[in-house]
Amino acid sequence: MNVLIVHAHPEPQSFTNALKDAAVAELTAAGHEVVVSDLYAMNFNPVASAADFGSRGSEDYLNYALEQRHNVKANSLAPDIAAELAKIKAADLVLLSFPLYWFSMPAILKGWIDRVFVSGIVYGGRRIYDQGGLSGKRAMVIATTGGRDHMLSAGGIHGDLTETLKPVLQGTLGYAGMTVLAPFYGYHVPYISQEAREAVLDDFRTQLRDIEKRETLVMPSLANFDAEMKPL
Ligand code: FAD
Repeated sequence: MNVLIVHAHPEPQSFTNALKDAAVAELTAAGHEVVVSDLYAMNFNPVASAADFGSRGSEDYLNYALEQRHNVKANSLAPDIAAELAKIKAADLVLLSFPLYWFSMPAILKGWIDRVFVSGIVYGGRRIYDQGGLSGKRAMVIATTGGRDHMLSAGGIHGDLTETLKPVLQGTLGYAGMTVLAPFYGYHVPYISQEAREAVLDDFRTQLRDIEKRETLVMPSLANFDAEMKPL
């Protein structure tokens, strides 16, 4: 299969980067084609703006999503957006690799999503969840944290991390139609021992070998909602 890893960490020697490298090595060794978008290394522009559009449906008012649709039809999206979209279209599996920042993803990755998950291809109208533009593809989050496992679990002080990451897991990946695999978390990684970090890497490699059997998160199905998206 074709794998796209979208990686967002500013330090090439980081543990998050080591997890990304482990994914590249494991998946390549298993015979998959792996492409990496290393957003900080690419100096990826995360700021959605009028400069993203080579032509305009409306010259005097920027409705970003409508201009995305117009520029999809006109084939005039900015080259950096078009290049990332082509990688997504070619991918069977998309991995998002990042350190947890403020209960969420780093801004550079959020900006990649804002600009690259374009209306008119990825979503739009009823083109969401199991009807989403990226249906048939799979996605998985690989995240590291400063917090400890028990702090980021159900009943813990911050609550369950998979619930916390709903904006990316459901609101982005699931919404776009992707089958969302259970995330992998490396907890508390700056503060544990070198041996413990190596064990996290080993566990990650082992889990990647079983990716075909990995648990998936339950997402809404449009079949359960009427034309106005009210529950049937
Ligand atoms: P690093 O600090 O880069 O690495 C940890 C250690 O691993 C280093 O000593 C490194 O040398 C070592 N290492 C590197 N490669 C290997 C290898 N191959 N084998 C073994 N060891 C290796 N945390 C939360 O829990 N919740 C939050 O909401 C949150 N918000 C944050 C917001 C911001 C703006 C910032 C900057 C941090 C935040 N954090 C938060 C903490 C952050 O999530 C963690 O610091 C980060 O995930 C740790 O991962 P890292 O890759 O940066 O670790």
